Amino acid sequence: MNDVNIDILNTKKLYRELFNNILNSMPTLFEKLRPTCQSCEKINSCKINKTNPFQKFDENCKLKLWHKNIINALENDLSKDILYKLKEIEKDKELFICNRCTICCKFATSEFDYRTLKEKAQNGDKFAKQFTSIFQPYNDFSEAKKAYPDYVKMLEENLDDIDNVYFYYCKKLNENGLCSDYENRLQICRDFPNNPLVLLPKCCGYKEWKEKHHMEALLSHATIEIIDFYIKKLKN
Ligand code: SF4
Ligand code: SF4
Repeated sequence: MNDVNIDILNTKKLYRELFNNILNSMPTLFEKLRPTCQSCEKINSCKINKTNPFQKFDENCKLKLWHKNIINALENDLSKDILYKLKEIEKDKELFICNRCTICCKFATSEFDYRTLKEKAQNGDKFAKQFTSIFQPYNDFSEAKKAYPDYVKMLEENLDDIDNVYFYYCKKLNENGLCSDYENRLQICRDFPNNPLVLLPKCCGYKEWKEKHHMEALLSHATIEIIDFYIKKLKN
């Protein structure tokens, strides 16, 4: 079980590249959405920078519609496309099955320590509530490393600060290393892996699904982050 922030950190360099490419393409989109200046009576004294949508326009200025056009394109076109893509990815997951190797039960990661997760659970965070009801932190890093050395090695190679990653195991695992309550497992267990960015062991039944959609998922997450940024900027 992982949270998406950790998964993105795993692919930090590639994610940054994709993020910058999308960010650099935004001015071209904004330019296409710019309303035409109507050369109103203020044309001779107009000081508006017609290449910058992020400014306050006069009430009667036609360029005032620019904000609305951008918000509309981000919220109604781009966001819907991404949502559609993510739903397709999720639907495709139904073609794959969990082979019950239990590695995700023996080894879960979070950017939060146990106390913070408990606090989040008490404050109503549904994921944290389910997670802390079954997962326990490993006593120390070396104990976690023994459970899944390949994953820890990969984190060590990719993360600037591995001290900010916390490792957990499920207390419902029995002495044979299997889930003792599989039929009644929680939604977070049923949903795993909940996105194709999750690092999966070679034996995982969803490995092929992950590889198939990894790039699309990274692109979608980067685009969502950029859309949120611009919508907040325009609405504030
Ligand atoms: S409850 Fe069962 S399926 Fe869920 S994480 Fe624990 S051992 Fe795995
Ligand atoms: S096959 Fe994948 S989802 Fe199923 S238990 Fe193993 S790691 Fe978890």
